[in-house]
Amino acid sequence: MTNAPRRTVFAGAAAMAASPLRPATAQTAAPVGEQAPQFFRFRVGALTVTTVHDGFFRRPVEGFVRNVPLADVQSVLAESFLPGDALTIPFTITFVDGPQGLTVLDAGTGAQMAPTAGRLAANMRAAGLDAAQVRRVVVSHFHGDHITGLTTADNQVVFPNAEIVVPAAEWAWWTDEGNSARSPEGQRGTFANTARRFGPYRDRVRQVRDGQEAAPGVTAIAAHGHTPGHTVYRIADGDQQVLFLADLTNRPELGARRPDWQIVFDFDGDAAAATRRRLLDMAAADRLRVTGYHFPFPATGFVARDGQGFRFVPADPTGAM
Ligand SMILES: [Zn+2]
Repeated sequence: MTNAPRRTVFAGAAAMAASPLRPATAQTAAPVGEQAPQFFRFRVGALTVTTVHDGFFRRPVEGFVRNVPLADVQSVLAESFLPGDALTIPFTITFVDGPQGLTVLDAGTGAQMAPTAGRLAANMRAAGLDAAQVRRVVVSHFHGDHITGLTTADNQVVFPNAEIVVPAAEWAWWTDEGNSARSPEGQRGTFANTARRFGPYRDRVRQVRDGQEAAPGVTAIAAHGHTPGHTVYRIADGDQQVLFLADLTNRPELGARRPDWQIVFDFDGDAAAATRRRLLDMAAADRLRVTGYHFPFPATGFVARDGQGFRFVPADPTGAM
């Protein structure tokens, strides 16, 4: 090596260090609140499950739970060290890969709902997951944060090679505008969004009912209440399983702790609460591993009975189990 190139390298490094544009530390490169949880992977028998983060939505705590005073909600949030003013609602999409190809459960926000959400595509790339390789999109229910990601803002399909699997009761309700007057006012936009997002997939939508197979290893379990056809899914191989809980609860720090509390997004609050209690009780009794759409990332763990409700216990974050 001669002296000349060595000097050049040194001069270049000095210039970079002096540049005002160059981040001085990792903190300036990734501001607090913008660091991205990305993906998390574990096995269920021969299946590989990956949870992928799509970002979050923030809303006031006030008005979120309909049937108890705000102070009660704030005090239960405080038990989990969560703030009492703003509620952060994360979005996490569950992928299942196996011998018969890739399945995704729900479709994310499609970067069309909040500036803090829409990271699914980038995080899928980080996880080595390709939308073109998805063979089935299995949908829990038709609220916007679960189906908007089926298509782009200009309504192109995001999953060009996928069959779309939907709960029959959910399809029946939201594809019939005649049900509009019998739906909560805040949810009436779901009719138009359903037509818009499923339209380009019209010829490859398949309906499933309670107990039917939605995808290889993925079985529908009716969990009506949050919406008329809200459905959760059992993902199983051999003697191992994980339950995708979708919106059985929103944040478990509220919904599992107090299953009888009814949130503003529940279509039928009484039915949602009864379903919530019944299925959380099953998950706790059978010690089932779960994933949840609005659970804190990586959105997988267990449910334990605790006092008047349940407690979410995150899985070992090393991914060792
Ligand atoms: Zn949701």
